[in-house]
Amino acid sequence: MEYCKNCQRLVEGPICKFCRNTKLRAPLDADFCMVAELPYFEAEMLKELFGDNGIPCTERSVLGAGITVNLGANLDRVRLYVPYDRYAFAKELFDSYFNGTEPTDEPEGEAEEAPRKAEIGRVYRHFKGGLYRVEGVAKHSETLEEYVVYRQMYGDESLWVRPAEMFLSPIDREKYPNAMQTYRFEAVEEQDAETPDSVD
Ligand SMILES: [Zn+2]
Repeated sequence: MEYCKNCQRLVEGPICKFCRNTKLRAPLDADFCMVAELPYFEAEMLKELFGDNGIPCTERSVLGAGITVNLGANLDRVRLYVPYDRYAFAKELFDSYFNGTEPTDEPEGEAEEAPRKAEIGRVYRHFKGGLYRVEGVAKHSETLEEYVVYRQMYGDESLWVRPAEMFLSPIDREKYPNAMQTYRFEAVEEQDAETPDSVD
């Protein structure tokens, strides 16, 4: 297994199936790895179990901090992360706790985070609020890396490029703990995109 720093997950190489990150590396003992995604109250119980067994654990709301407050904690799902050197033990505790009847996080995570791709012609909202239309996907002539070409829908309507991997990646939660989106760019419905008010 390799470690995807974006997702904080252990994944099969060479490409992270969740965010398409290609820069995977061997996990280090201190790397926090996602061990489960659960409804809020179950996650709290599992966290307590980890605590009782001396496993440090961090949690993160799937919806993002701002939305959790609005919906109420009971609708939220929580991801739990433990250091890699405690991962196997944590997984074991998790499996025994749910007695093997509860599926692991894998199918759910996959359904929710199927590989994303930039759709040409589609409007995306950057997590800081600006709207952009994807004009194309280009290949770098020297590295063959894919880039997304996109036009900002405000101001001078200038054209931008960004590595596709980065365009499609989740927001760095350490840097932006209060971001209201999961991903750096998220597709929006066309009617929302046409409303000038939606740019803030
Ligand atoms: Zn990833």
